[in-house]
Amino acid sequence: MALKRVLIVGGGSAGWITAAYMDAVLNGPRNKIIDITVVESPTIGRIGVGEATVPSVRDTMRTIGVPEADFMKATDATFKQAIKFANWLDGKGEYYYHPFARRPAGRLDRSAPKWLSSDRSVPFANTVSVQPELCDDGRCPKTMQPRDYHAPLSYAYHMDAEKLADFLCDLSVKRGVKHIQDDVVAVQLEAGAIKSVTTKSGGTLEADLFVDCTGFRSLLINGELGAPYIDYSQWLLCDRAVAMRVPHDLHFSGERRPYTTATAQDAGWIWDIGLANRRGVGYVYSSDYMSDDEAMATLKAFEGAHAADLDPRQLKFRVGRRDNPWTSNCVAIGLSSGFIEPLESTGLFLVELAVATLCEYFPFGEKMDVQAKRFNQILEDRYEEILDFIVLHYCLTRRQDTAFWQEVQKADRIPDRLQESLDLWRTKSPSLSDFHNGLQLFSHHTYEYVMYGMDFMWDKRRAGAAPTQTPQEVSEALSRARGALPTHDEWLKAHLGSSYQ
Ligand SMILES: Cc1cc2nc3c(=O)[nH]c(=O)nc-3n(C[C@H](O)[C@H](O)[C@H](O)COP(=O)(O)OP(=O)(O)OC[C@H]3O[C@@H](n4cnc5c(N)ncnc54)[C@H](O)[C@@H]3O)c2cc1C
Repeated sequence: MALKRVLIVGGGSAGWITAAYMDAVLNGPRNKIIDITVVESPTIGRIGVGEATVPSVRDTMRTIGVPEADFMKATDATFKQAIKFANWLDGKGEYYYHPFARRPAGRLDRSAPKWLSSDRSVPFANTVSVQPELCDDGRCPKTMQPRDYHAPLSYAYHMDAEKLADFLCDLSVKRGVKHIQDDVVAVQLEAGAIKSVTTKSGGTLEADLFVDCTGFRSLLINGELGAPYIDYSQWLLCDRAVAMRVPHDLHFSGERRPYTTATAQDAGWIWDIGLANRRGVGYVYSSDYMSDDEAMATLKAFEGAHAADLDPRQLKFRVGRRDNPWTSNCVAIGLSSGFIEPLESTGLFLVELAVATLCEYFPFGEKMDVQAKRFNQILEDRYEEILDFIVLHYCLTRRQDTAFWQEVQKADRIPDRLQESLDLWRTKSPSLSDFHNGLQLFSHHTYEYVMYGMDFMWDKRRAGAAPTQTPQEVSEALSRARGALPTHDEWLKAHLGSSYQ
């Protein structure tokens, strides 16, 4: 069989994850069946954000085949065990956690009905997971005797997006992936498929399969192939972000948090992500409700006086997805295939899913329409799933203090599918049967964290209900974890060395 040529256009996180993953899965060390080239513009920068991940990234890194400590050191990574959502319900300092780990429960998990019928004096998440309290303690999910990519508790990472791309670039090139630094300036079609691309320096690059990783530019999939874009702005109002990096030597509280914080603001929310040597903070907001200058001033005020001289970056984005990210012989992966705002850190997850699915459905023969159809359905389902889950965070708010928060809870801002589920979940708590697509990212667990963190069914509280009981197995597991797990900072310093001091 002739070697299949794959040309990846774009060298951001999406481009290099795609290259490294495809090479590891389809080629391996001795069995080269595809020839991979990445062409990356030396002048057009990467998006430079995308610092928080979900646990699937461990599997991706393990599959690519890198020692965990090497990857973490190279990307200034820290651990993430949860997202802490502050001020989403009333805007008065309240918060809830969406942790990754949860006590195993049987097919009919009764945790939520029990909690709902109590006085709810303990947050729901604390009754089913040890991670909220371990996050408050600043503990690490791993013990001091680590195994790569394993821990007693589920976890993901915070990491530097630029460094991730550089790390995977070096690794892939060493393994035989070709790297060309040039701008793609034209795309040649033949019989509805891409035949080649032309670069600024005059080269022509041919391939059997093209992967569009050009970020929001969507050079191949949008340009010549014109795959339609499905707009999500009816449901998700945020369309801008302002982001800045706060070096630890400018401001460091003394410990790196093992969770992401998402704090609601007047017209959106601010992320706060701690890395080895700096924090990444950013305000995701709606330009209909806040100007760029106001957003920048809000972000700086949130950070404090030490941020006065920092120079934040403004980013514009359009929420939605490409209808057919695999069109003809071109597959869009990353921001070129769509974007949903980063509240649940799903951008890199969608890259991971797309490349794993592409490997599974790789077109070794001439025909690729059947594989494309299935790939497109899988991606569409995940985008729609993520859309619903992100809207859930907004629509349950009781905030009335700004026009933005009044707007997000209106009925026409809630997709029908989500509204139908919410109606159902007023009659019963979410359960396994409500989530029966094996590829789903979110489950009844994750829905419950957000719904009960946002006080869903608050109108059904019963007067005189008994105090919430934390199940004994959760309390015991928490005591054991406190005995076994070091603090996050202790672990990072002990295992990753100097940049974590
Ligand atoms: C505000 C914001 C916050 C986010 N936060 C998170 C998060 O916390 N977690 C998460 O998982 N995801 C997050 N994301 C998404 C994440 O950043 C992206 O999914 C991820 O970085 C992939 O980006 P990309 O590689 O598709 O695009 P980019 O990083 O933009 O890379 C595009 C590449 O294409 C190249 N290119 C462009 N045009 C050409 C051309 N003509 N010729 C050659 N090369 C070209 C560029 O040089 C670059 O290398 C966030 C996104 C935004 C906007």
